[in-house]
Amino acid sequence: MSARRRPLVSGNWKMNLDHHQAIHAARDLGLRLRGADTAAVDLSVHPPFTDLRSVQTVLEADDVPVALGAQNCAVEDAGPFTGEVSAPMLAKLHVEYVIVGHSERRRLFGETDEVVAAKLRAVVRNGMTPICCVGETLEEREAGETTTRLTGQVDAALEAFDGEILPALVVAYEPLWAIGTGRAASPDDAQDAARVIRSVVAARRGDEAGAQLRVQYGGSVTPANAAELVAAPDIDGLLVGGASLDPAQFVAIARAAHPPV
Ligand code: PEP
Repeated sequence: MSARRRPLVSGNWKMNLDHHQAIHAARDLGLRLRGADTAAVDLSVHPPFTDLRSVQTVLEADDVPVALGAQNCAVEDAGPFTGEVSAPMLAKLHVEYVIVGHSERRRLFGETDEVVAAKLRAVVRNGMTPICCVGETLEEREAGETTTRLTGQVDAALEAFDGEILPALVVAYEPLWAIGTGRAASPDDAQDAARVIRSVVAARRGDEAGAQLRVQYGGSVTPANAAELVAAPDIDGLLVGGASLDPAQFVAIARAAHPPV
């Protein structure tokens, strides 16, 4: 990992923890984290929408060194879009990172590359940093189509910022076959994919943009495999689902993500 890129370890709570449980989890995180844990690593948690205000209050009141994140946002900033939550609403709650294009949203809620690009624009327009998820299915991997798939998804994401200076952007490599399956990618496979993602950004938007891009790995990360995954040179952090629901495991993963000194 480049000395210029701080790892980002993010906990995606998905549709788990009501606001009482979320308050408890955020407080627990604050009690477990030591100053040294975040000296060289950024952390974020991504609770469900209904928990955001409660978690924001705990993180800010207790000085917990964890950024608030969201799991999704609307394309539009306001208007007649029943059931949606807009990027300005998230920014008002001091949300810093928004996951965009998680495979569950693409697969279960029909989010296309175009919708993902529009959401990326909404997040950046409102001063937050998107974590854009990309990744191949098992069938695509077995057919040797991983590079093509990742290149297509990264290209589509970059189209959101066509002709503009590329904003701060995090890309999470999340192979679909590794999410929630207990079968993480090997460090070599994760590194190969992260290198493809970085090289697409470098090819399209210049070497500097490629060098600055933070690429996370996500998919069945645990305290046991976190260190070897972040040791890969092109992986700058982790997007953690199931294990992030347990503050002790999330802190252990954050500690494993420290860059070598
Ligand atoms: C995720 O959903 O982003 C994820 C990586 O899940 P898990 O860690 O549970 O595989």
